[in-house]
Amino acid sequence: MQYLSTRGGIQPIPFTKAVMMGLAEDGGLLLPRTIPRIDSQTLNSWKDLSYAELAFEVMSRFIDDIPISDLKALINRSYATFDNVEVAPLIHCGNLHILELFHGPTLAFKDIALQFLGNLFEYLLDKSGEVLNILGATSGDTGSAAIYGVRGKERIRIFILHPHKRVSPVQEKQMTSIMDGNVFNIAIHGSFDDGQAIVKKIFNDIEFKNRMSLGAINSINWARVLAQVVYYVYSCLHIAKHEKDGSLAFSVPTGNFGDIFAGYIAKRMLPEGSIRQLILATNANDILTRFVNKGDYSLGEVVQTSSPSMDIQAASNFERYLFYLLDKEPEQVKELMAEFSRTGRIDLSGHLDQIRRDFTAAAVSEQEVAATIADFYNEFDYILDPHTAVGVRAAILHQRAGVPMVCLATAHPAKFGEAVEKAIGRPPTFPESLAGILDRESRCELMQADSLKIQDFLEQHALSR
Ligand SMILES: *Cc1c(COP(=O)(O)O)cnc(C)c1O
Repeated sequence: MQYLSTRGGIQPIPFTKAVMMGLAEDGGLLLPRTIPRIDSQTLNSWKDLSYAELAFEVMSRFIDDIPISDLKALINRSYATFDNVEVAPLIHCGNLHILELFHGPTLAFKDIALQFLGNLFEYLLDKSGEVLNILGATSGDTGSAAIYGVRGKERIRIFILHPHKRVSPVQEKQMTSIMDGNVFNIAIHGSFDDGQAIVKKIFNDIEFKNRMSLGAINSINWARVLAQVVYYVYSCLHIAKHEKDGSLAFSVPTGNFGDIFAGYIAKRMLPEGSIRQLILATNANDILTRFVNKGDYSLGEVVQTSSPSMDIQAASNFERYLFYLLDKEPEQVKELMAEFSRTGRIDLSGHLDQIRRDFTAAAVSEQEVAATIADFYNEFDYILDPHTAVGVRAAILHQRAGVPMVCLATAHPAKFGEAVEKAIGRPPTFPESLAGILDRESRCELMQADSLKIQDFLEQHALSR
């Protein structure tokens, strides 16, 4: 399989090159040249596979430059760290199915992609003899999942900036209590946006970036999207065992559009009608809901909610969908993205029919999130985290008769204990892996939000070739 840029400015490259490139060199995002199709017979033949076996079947359709046995070993290693043998178990609550994606080491769905990506980086660097220094900014979840993905790996160092005292105590400890020598946490005096701006500035210094072998780990990496396609297929196979009609709907709590874009890829891979509906659920940061309902993609102010991992306006994976919406015309993508960075707005209302065939959307308020957590707890004795509750609320609003609905559960409620306690009057139970976490020893640098100081720190601590 060859990979192309949404902006058309690079020669086709194989999967492993696309993984190491991350963002395409022309500023676009990488996509496979074609989306492979899975017919019903093939799909049916997968119904008894384990999660890791299925992951191999799905991913190998997109990867042809890693030997089969190596790819299998990589995948097996990535999902062996999950605390549930099914990896992504489905829980049935009334007429909704909750797909629990939080059984990885940091208790959020990002582990599903980042455990795999960490192992993949390590494998590719061992082959090439190169090193990688990962630099990223986090508002909480991505940082810890990325750190757990690469901790202890010899050819990798990771530097994660987080806003000092503005991540939850559990999130902070999840990052700073990791004692592996290749992990560097930097708390900055400032906001998440300040951290993000520093990272962008450093990546724009191409000489520095190349000299330091800097790489990113954010959700624009194609390997992350690919790893997420798997659980959509997994759900289809498992629901098909209980329901006569194999088709189903998904509700996806959305921030950067990575998770739901994986669902879109799955929908196009699977036999027609397997995925009937993709519900894009946002919190008060509703740019994507406005896009689906009106064709209006325009930036608003970021507001803080109880689902902070979705407090995002410009969604970094949106350009991938735009590429398909515009019939794979890179010139048009380029033009519209340039317009968006100039004006903060693009009008896609001319494509509304297609957009609404692809997605249904809903924005969910803070009151609705709290009420949904409370209702679910009272009715099913099941505790939703606030992100998952956004998706569940949207699913209840838009569920169609006779189509089973899968709600993606993207985080364990204990990660967002405060919001949960407010809704149900008691804190969620801490899972074993978090027991005593707040008392663990930790290690972190506290620094000014100054890109030159961060660059100095990288000079001192990064791996060199
Ligand atoms: C990252 C995240 C999301 C949003 O996923 P996207 O791929 O950015 O749309 C939702 N819930 C949780 C808990 C997350 O960490």
